[in-house]
Amino acid sequence: MAEADSAGVDSGRAPLDTAAPGLLPDVGPLVPESLARPRVERPTLQRWPIVWNDEREALTQAYLAHHHGGPLTGDPSADSHMVPRMVVIHWTAGPNLRSARATFLAPTQKNSRRRSRWNLVNLSAHFLVDRDGARVQLMEPTRVGRHTIGLNHLAIGIENVGDRDRWPLTRSQVESNAALLRWLVQEHPSITHLIGHYEYRRFEGTPLFRDQTRFRTGRNDPGKPFMEALRYELRDLGLLGPPEGAR
Ligand SMILES: [Zn+2]
Repeated sequence: MAEADSAGVDSGRAPLDTAAPGLLPDVGPLVPESLARPRVERPTLQRWPIVWNDEREALTQAYLAHHHGGPLTGDPSADSHMVPRMVVIHWTAGPNLRSARATFLAPTQKNSRRRSRWNLVNLSAHFLVDRDGARVQLMEPTRVGRHTIGLNHLAIGIENVGDRDRWPLTRSQVESNAALLRWLVQEHPSITHLIGHYEYRRFEGTPLFRDQTRFRTGRNDPGKPFMEALRYELRDLGLLGPPEGAR
């Protein structure tokens, strides 16, 4: 009888909140952490480190000071280190691993003589994934690389060799990115977000985004289909995307 229920007459159902605190046995988590997710082995990664010398360190700090308004931690010895909160997926717009790595190798950008000191540090990413799925690590995942305006201070960058039309991203890359991400999320539990580079501006105005310059670039990498496929592969991890309702 719906009317009796709505009038507050006892419908015979037990109230939900009668258990006094402390009377229920402490059974711990419903699913132990160790059973919830099998341990992920470190995926195969070739190491092709980019040059990280005193110059790159100093220029990275200059970049952070200019774009973010100061060092990350206040500890001068840790200025180019970060606690990763996010992974940003890119495409290289180039044909192969070697050309991508060559772009990131040197501490300073090409044609850098005309640039200001705060803008000198070269672009970089933490990992490269070839079109057959082979993976390369270029730098430590806890150092700040320059790959995504406003989010560099907390984001690991993964570059995928290819683009939309000339060298389309592949299914092998989706699976390779997924395996790498599973390991990164395990090793860095601080990671809560996964985005495509084209989604970065949706963080503007949130506490995660830090860039006090007006410089922004339009991005469409790595394309929506790639991110949809990757998010489907990793749906059990519960990683967040850009904020709802943002442009
Ligand atoms: Zn990108």
